[in-house]
Amino acid sequence: MPYIRIIRLMCTGRVDPAFIFRAFANGQDGVFIGGCLLGECHYITEGNYDALNMVHLCKRLMEHIGLDPRRLRIEWISAAEGIKFAEIMDDFGKELKELGPLGESEGLDTDELRSKLDEVKGLIPYIKIQKREKLEMRFKNLEDYNDLYTRDEIEKLFTETASFYIDPEKCQACMICGKRCPVEAISGAKNKIHVIDQEACIKCGSCYEACPPRFGAIDKLCGEPVPPPIPEEQRMRVRVRSRG
Ligand code: SF4
Ligand code: SF4
Repeated sequence: MPYIRIIRLMCTGRVDPAFIFRAFANGQDGVFIGGCLLGECHYITEGNYDALNMVHLCKRLMEHIGLDPRRLRIEWISAAEGIKFAEIMDDFGKELKELGPLGESEGLDTDELRSKLDEVKGLIPYIKIQKREKLEMRFKNLEDYNDLYTRDEIEKLFTETASFYIDPEKCQACMICGKRCPVEAISGAKNKIHVIDQEACIKCGSCYEACPPRFGAIDKLCGEPVPPPIPEEQRMRVRVRSRG
């Protein structure tokens, strides 16, 4: 049986791309989002249009990392349409069964799949900022969503976006970068090597600019994987006092 993640929130407009890729990273074979009928939102926000837009972006991201975008489905179902809901879920389940376990039909082994999903998860905060204007666009003609995100622009997100990594050998735990980070993505303390939480980082580069040149502890990485963080128990810096 395929594993399907049903994300249950008050409004589909609150579904974040991070939820979707986290579900895949946690081993779900498919993600289903069911929203209120378009044009019949209970609120003025019409969050279901936001969800539709976000799903198109996520499908492009899935394509980019080699995942079949059919694994992500959004449908509009009213509370009175129980039979329709059951039929859709049955259909989605069958489709996922045909696709097989996540990564398998795409020819990705476990390590490749994990690394690609980690890469997307790490970029999501940045993508949400970069694509904010597009994510807010709404079209009454649903066909218009298909051309909203091009393959080229998604490719650029992956190849031209820099990630930042603190080299534990060089970090002097001076705490300057942590104070500059606008999203508190850097953990560390006095005498403790600092570490960037790649999932929270929005890639603004402020830490890179702030790290004193004499330390040069922050690397800017483009198109290459970010090394894993140094284990917690190895983060204390031992300072040797010079005598005399
Ligand atoms: S790049 Fe920006 S968001 Fe990321 S850790 Fe550095 S200061 Fe924080
Ligand atoms: S500014 Fe540089 S040396 Fe100071 S804590 Fe951050 S990474 Fe380490």
